[in-house]
Amino acid sequence: MSTVVFVHAHPDDEALLTSGTMARLSAHGHRVVLVMATDGAAGLVSQEVASDGDVAATRQAELATSGRALGVSAFHQLGYSDSGLAGDAVVGPGQHRFADAEVDHVAAELVSIFEAESADVVVGYDRSGGYGHPDHIQVHHTVRRAAEIYTFAPLLEATLPREPMLRVVKLIYAQRWAVPALGGLDIETWRTAYTPRDKIDYRVDVRPNITQKRASLAAHASQATADDGPRTLSALLKLPKPIFKWVLGREYFHKVLAGDGAQPGLLGELFGPRYEPRRRKVARN
Ligand SMILES: [Zn+2]
Repeated sequence: MSTVVFVHAHPDDEALLTSGTMARLSAHGHRVVLVMATDGAAGLVSQEVASDGDVAATRQAELATSGRALGVSAFHQLGYSDSGLAGDAVVGPGQHRFADAEVDHVAAELVSIFEAESADVVVGYDRSGGYGHPDHIQVHHTVRRAAEIYTFAPLLEATLPREPMLRVVKLIYAQRWAVPALGGLDIETWRTAYTPRDKIDYRVDVRPNITQKRASLAAHASQATADDGPRTLSALLKLPKPIFKWVLGREYFHKVLAGDGAQPGLLGELFGPRYEPRRRKVARN
């Protein structure tokens, strides 16, 4: 049995990026630990939820439901505030935007969690922070710094393959009506988003775990009913089940550090065989 620690920025990021892998690992008897950096309170919520008051409490309850669906064994909250897409979210007294936190300070918090949980593998985010949210970039920097101190465990970064994402984004731009689904992000953002396909090391087939992934996404209902802005979750949940499985049936990881305490073959056992995109083979000839 191994322990894999996933560090995420906002409640719902675990659902979109790594929920299938988390469900797969827990189904195979491994311990899955979820670290959440922020309360997600700057997230877009529907009028209905917002008028109920406590957005952070709503998102915490949703996160707990998602964690149960995925078989999460332990859960840690760093307790920062969501920084917002522009990094300027207004926060209450005594609260701190995650993107403004000192990298060394957050890394030290993460190292204590990795030690307490005896992490065998740690998972952060790619260097682009996906589509560039400042809190996602902060996850990238802080988990890397922590993994350089806690050298026992290999470090993987959750990501998506850039080229197919860019193709989809270009299609959406060609259909002007669908552009609001991109949440105001311009096409230049997508040219450097996520990770080039030939830098991806593991592609996890989560189609057998798609029911749990769907349950995890559905748990984040306040995001799915947002009145405005990117309605990614809502759009995804409306997909017919076979298409949902096709779109979300694989999750992607880039390997950064091998970990000096890792058993040989550990990553292959946990994350499946090394990913070899067809193009990479062609390029070698
Ligand atoms: Zn996020």
